[in-house]
Amino acid sequence: MPHDPLTAEQGEIRELVRTLARERIEPRAAEIDKSAEFPWDVVELFRENGLFGLMFDEEHGGIGASALMTLVAIEEVAKVCATSALILAVQELGALGIKLAGSDEQKQRFLPRLASGEWLAAYALTEADSGSDSAAMRSEARRDGDDYILNGTKRFITNAGVAHLYVFFAKTDPAGGHDGISAFVVEADTPGFQVGRIEPKMGIKGSTTGELLLDDCRVPAANRLGAEGEGFPLAMRILDRSRPGIAAQGLGLAQGATDYALAYAKERETFGESIAKHQLIAGMLADMETKCAAARTLLYRCAQVIDSGDESELTKLSAITKLFCTDVAMEVTTDAVQVLGGYGYIQEYPVERMMRDAKITQIYEGTNQIQRLVIAREMLRD
Ligand SMILES: Cc1cc2nc3c(=O)[nH]c(=O)nc-3n(C[C@H](O)[C@H](O)[C@H](O)COP(=O)(O)OP(=O)(O)OC[C@H]3O[C@@H](n4cnc5c(N)ncnc54)[C@H](O)[C@@H]3O)c2cc1C
Repeated sequence: MPHDPLTAEQGEIRELVRTLARERIEPRAAEIDKSAEFPWDVVELFRENGLFGLMFDEEHGGIGASALMTLVAIEEVAKVCATSALILAVQELGALGIKLAGSDEQKQRFLPRLASGEWLAAYALTEADSGSDSAAMRSEARRDGDDYILNGTKRFITNAGVAHLYVFFAKTDPAGGHDGISAFVVEADTPGFQVGRIEPKMGIKGSTTGELLLDDCRVPAANRLGAEGEGFPLAMRILDRSRPGIAAQGLGLAQGATDYALAYAKERETFGESIAKHQLIAGMLADMETKCAAARTLLYRCAQVIDSGDESELTKLSAITKLFCTDVAMEVTTDAVQVLGGYGYIQEYPVERMMRDAKITQIYEGTNQIQRLVIAREMLRD
């Protein structure tokens, strides 16, 4: 590939992930969608091949790969199965709170089990009445000696019921607004912690999305991430770092749909020639490829900024990247369905699943309306 920003070693890892995706995950993708069952076999595949370790430093059991490498891995898996790609993206989302705000002791206690994939992680911010306006949450954490007592209900939490570790946000000062929120690590076997209903949904069907019910759940103060009141800025810093993962999922979906539509268009004939030779279809394919290329340039640029350690403009760039790559995902997968005509609409072909899967990328980790607000706010600040 010209101007490939990956080193030779990173290129080899990409090749490994690409092969695993094509040979082991692609054949499972339709079944994962149909059964709507969480794909533990894919988790096992990631464990065996050390893919969870990409996201963690060597001192915490990982291989210390770059953000770029992690995002490339998510992109490669998303080309064939967005549910499976989300397993990698949410491991990072759930781990980031510990990476960014955890003490050395907390990092040693939790990260190695996430790096090996023994435990899956989750990020629990949203509640029934607080999604975009997340600081309006009602969950509370009350200090009691060396513990906190957590009460509240979270909604729409990815990995509910399959994660062992949940980064849970709650109000330690209910009158404190944005400054009254703190973050805690809650393990799934803690008394008072329960998983409620799991939502049936339009896409990414193999991923669990569910309720968390905390009823006098006693968590040691040693599980608080950062100081009391620092939870909201932490939640936002986590999203700055995790949104590129959703962008990578969107880009993978878009490129996977483009590749499929191209191969189909070369084979399918109407009016005596392949549909790829009809200029209206050729133009669509060209637009799809162009959007993917632009999205990839933006995503890799964002990855390089994360890897540089300079976070001064990351909030804006991360929002721009998420917004663009996921809007591209929706546009391009919709076009792929159009290129296949009637065959695009039936379940025998993967592009209708890709189109359903793409929709959520415009909604979670901050809707694309919220990304626009974030970008505009940062522009006005500039
Ligand atoms: C499958 C799935 C997985 C998810 N995983 C997680 C997870 O792991 N952890 C987690 O914490 N949450 C998760 N979420 C929650 C997700 O992040 C929220 O659903 C999302 O942020 C939107 O919140 P909401 O649904 O309450 O919509 P609302 O906030 O009610 O928004 C409704 C509509 O209004 C728009 N809107 C809201 N405010 C504004 C504004 N100020 N200006 C312009 N438009 C506005 C929104 O863009 C949207 O179109 C998940 C959701 C789903 C569906």
